[in-house]
Amino acid sequence: MSKPHIVILGAGPAGLGAASKLSRTSAAQVTVLEQQFTVGGNAGSFELEGVHVDYGSHRLHPACDAEVFQDIQAFLGADLLERPRHGRIRLHSRWIHFPLKPIDLALRLPPRFATGVLADGLSKLVPKNSIPLEETFASVMEKGLGRTICQDFYFPYAKKLWGLEPSELSPTQARRRVSNSSLMKMVRKVLSAVPGLKPKGSGIFYYPKRGFGQICEAYYHSALEHGAQVHLGARVTAVQQQPEGGYIIEHQSASSPSGAAPLELKADQVWSTIPITALAQLMRPKPPAELVEAARQIDYRSMILVYLVLAQSQFSQYDAHYFPELGTSITRLSEPKNYSNRQNPEDTTVLCAELPCAPDSAEWSLDDEQLGQVVLQDLEQAGIPVRAPVRRVFVRRLRFAYPVYRKGYEAYFNPLDEWAEGLQGLLSFGRQGLFAHDNTHHALYMAYSAVKCLDADGGFNKQRWQEYRKIFETHVVED
Ligand SMILES: Cc1cc2nc3c(=O)[nH]c(=O)nc-3n(C[C@H](O)[C@H](O)[C@H](O)COP(=O)(O)OP(=O)(O)OC[C@H]3O[C@@H](n4cnc5c(N)ncnc54)[C@H](O)[C@@H]3O)c2cc1C
Repeated sequence: MSKPHIVILGAGPAGLGAASKLSRTSAAQVTVLEQQFTVGGNAGSFELEGVHVDYGSHRLHPACDAEVFQDIQAFLGADLLERPRHGRIRLHSRWIHFPLKPIDLALRLPPRFATGVLADGLSKLVPKNSIPLEETFASVMEKGLGRTICQDFYFPYAKKLWGLEPSELSPTQARRRVSNSSLMKMVRKVLSAVPGLKPKGSGIFYYPKRGFGQICEAYYHSALEHGAQVHLGARVTAVQQQPEGGYIIEHQSASSPSGAAPLELKADQVWSTIPITALAQLMRPKPPAELVEAARQIDYRSMILVYLVLAQSQFSQYDAHYFPELGTSITRLSEPKNYSNRQNPEDTTVLCAELPCAPDSAEWSLDDEQLGQVVLQDLEQAGIPVRAPVRRVFVRRLRFAYPVYRKGYEAYFNPLDEWAEGLQGLLSFGRQGLFAHDNTHHALYMAYSAVKCLDADGGFNKQRWQEYRKIFETHVVED
């Protein structure tokens, strides 16, 4: 076999990155199956009353791998903008610039917070004989950052984001998924805002003119141009492993009459970017009962995105407002027009509020008007009330937003991961496939790495893949 037929499940950054790279290098014949009618997954965009909006605040971070970044630049050309970061955090009824700036630390930090951080920093200089505690997100963060930053910022924020007490979260959440996990790292970041000390890429992000989703659309078009087939509105309902090798993938097409038998597609290899928990449910023969149970024990946090269409040209000059405190339900508010610096449409702007929740929570089933009210009240309380008429409230729900690293989740994820790794001709990767709280550039890097594991004879080199997996372990999510 020289050119395998690879069926990719999911058209988010991981799936499309792989589809584009595989077809551009003529390494495989590629078919992508995506349940939605649009591409991009959680990193997609859509248009709302003339404004390009994303699924919550999305930026391309300068930490992006060079090869991936070169491709994005080549695809988007002048449409890829370099933008200054200009956000702010609500803390003790004050606003502090985010990313932190030395001037804010000196002049604008709430006094109780500033003295607390200073005292925490000084106490670190004194060696202690503390009794080692069981490590959790809370203990690792507190050891690195001190009590004040944790109690006032990271702990309430974590509780809102993941729906768990910080002591119920795994230390992995702190080590690999928080870029400022020690006071020194934070100080270095703050100092990097000083002209002259500024390393390349600090304080900026990249953003496409027509929304973050333009990145995935570019990968989609590149894959099509190079011969890949992409079926949208195609929901995968079963992945059958064949005794003679390869797979048959059953999927329901949205254009088929209701009650029609599922469509079937034969593949030499399946590259899955759908949630690993869903993959375990779809696999035939079924995985052993203990793995089906393991898949039930880990979960992803969901997110409601509430878009307010306002009759005004600009709500504020900031790209994003962060709300770590528990008094508000939302965690972040972004204004997409400020990401691309677009002036049009002149009389309209859109705000996007992020409300993390569980899919069985009361919030998940609130209607659009109720959700609009939740956001308006939060903004009023934070001292940034919406004064312009709200033309429309529009809601989108992401079922799989963040993997939840509950303490001990590794006992369930690791066997599931080993099972998927052990299946001949199957690869599970991407943010959902590896249960990794990763950025888009990490998902794309995984896709490119997977393509590099395809040997000239069409076989997949799992040993090489394991080497790449060690690199993925070093990825740290950027906000
Ligand atoms: C609120 C929020 C903010 C973020 N901000 C940033 C940011 O600023 N910068 C950044 O780089 N990243 C950010 N991210 C992360 C980014 O969205 C992800 O890293 C990226 O989307 C992961 O890509 P993926 O392809 O691995 O997964 P996904 O984007 O989740 O794609 C998976 C795809 O699989 C499809 N699928 C699932 N089940 C099936 C099925 N049965 N059949 C067919 N298709 C199926 C889904 O519809 C989806 O399209 C953010 C994420 C969230 C939630």
